[in-house]
Amino acid sequence: MEIAGVFPLPFSARPRHFARMTNLRPKFWETVPLKKMTAPEWEALCDGCGKCCLNKIEYEDTGEVEYTRVACRLLDNETCRCSNYANRFQYVPECIRLNPKTLTRIAYWLPASCAYKLLNQGKPLPDWHPLVTGDPDSTHTSGNSMRGQTVSEAAVDEDDWDDYIIQENL
Ligand code: SF4
Ligand code: SF4
Repeated sequence: MEIAGVFPLPFSARPRHFARMTNLRPKFWETVPLKKMTAPEWEALCDGCGKCCLNKIEYEDTGEVEYTRVACRLLDNETCRCSNYANRFQYVPECIRLNPKTLTRIAYWLPASCAYKLLNQGKPLPDWHPLVTGDPDSTHTSGNSMRGQTVSEAAVDEDDWDDYIIQENL
């Protein structure tokens, strides 16, 4: 398969992770449409998996998108959080803001487990999601995050990204 296009910098959609679990309507993710959620509710949907901050390779012939373990230089490998979220556009201008308007356009490259993608598809949150478990660490403890598995793009030449392709579907 020929690599036709390499995303030059991470496509990222990350909202603020581990939002405060306050001022959220009970089980809002089951009853409130994405476009009607409050900002705290929208942010609380993010499971903190870190997958959207990975660099990806797109194949022109099939449109397939493959994930690599090569992460944005601002991603913290241990917390799976952006290390400078407030100022991230200053350092990574290509980082994409995820909101109800952009979601449909970029959903194709979000991981299948992404809460925004799931709800946009009319699917429920997985049983390991922090909103479901009440445990902010449950994405990590259930093995559904990239914690401890990434390498920084600062350490890997772009020509070598295909050596870091993640084989399993994300
Ligand atoms: S893939 Fe979705 S749920 Fe995971 S960190 Fe990114 S925005 Fe949050
Ligand atoms: S700037 Fe932050 S939120 Fe954007 S891709 Fe990089 S680590 Fe993720």
